[in-house]
Amino acid sequence: MDLRAQRLTALVLRALPYGDSDQVVQFLARGRGRIAVFARGARSSKRRFGSALEPFQLCEILVSARAGAQLLSLRESHVVEAHAGLRDDLHRLAHAGYASELAHDLTREHEPADGLFEALAGFLLSLAVSPATSARLRALELAFLSASGLAPQLDACARCGDEVAPGRAALDPAAGGLVCSSCTPPGALALGRGPRALLEQLQQRGLEGAETPLSADGSGRPADARAFEEAAAQAGIVLGAFLVHQLGRTPRSSAFLEQVGAPR
Ligand SMILES: [Zn+2]
Repeated sequence: MDLRAQRLTALVLRALPYGDSDQVVQFLARGRGRIAVFARGARSSKRRFGSALEPFQLCEILVSARAGAQLLSLRESHVVEAHAGLRDDLHRLAHAGYASELAHDLTREHEPADGLFEALAGFLLSLAVSPATSARLRALELAFLSASGLAPQLDACARCGDEVAPGRAALDPAAGGLVCSSCTPPGALALGRGPRALLEQLQQRGLEGAETPLSADGSGRPADARAFEEAAAQAGIVLGAFLVHQLGRTPRSSAFLEQVGAPR
């Protein structure tokens, strides 16, 4: 018996086959967080849900809880945004897969994560219509960390609170951000001036900072796009290590990014 039916706006994070005819789909739903949903007949009948369970799509779904069942049941799914452009390009596909894995790993089932949902929705929408870039990936990582309460501290020393001298700095994942010269432990990660300014800008401006980067000189002029992208790739080494420290492991999809030569 259906206990409760609920209509949700949700992004498909991944869909795994279950037996010969069914699927278990992980969604990130607005207002609900991450949910695992049983899609009966999704594999045996193409008509059952059509193409509405493809990863990275934004869907309107109708789910219900059933007595005694652990998983929610999927009753309907309709595509709102197919993000078709993601499937034509290996680099974009790799970035979308990485973003979905991070979203999965930074959320818990049934815990609303609307900040993270909006960040992922904006990222996928933008990625579907423009090339994959390191800058957008950094903006996504920072937005995800911030939405999870794990944002790196970039405006002062994460250990003592003192100012961190301008220019090249050190980041200590265990401390939670930049550290001043007195607090820098051995093995802290070196962050160059350009990559540091880039992370500051992307933490403040989000995805918009990646789409229309501004010069680090404070003039408000557009940044040199190539230099900005290069700084984003360098910042990725440091921010990637910060993320691995927070997650406790390296995302599996990082290997796929490397394999297809996608910007990292
Ligand atoms: Zn300090």
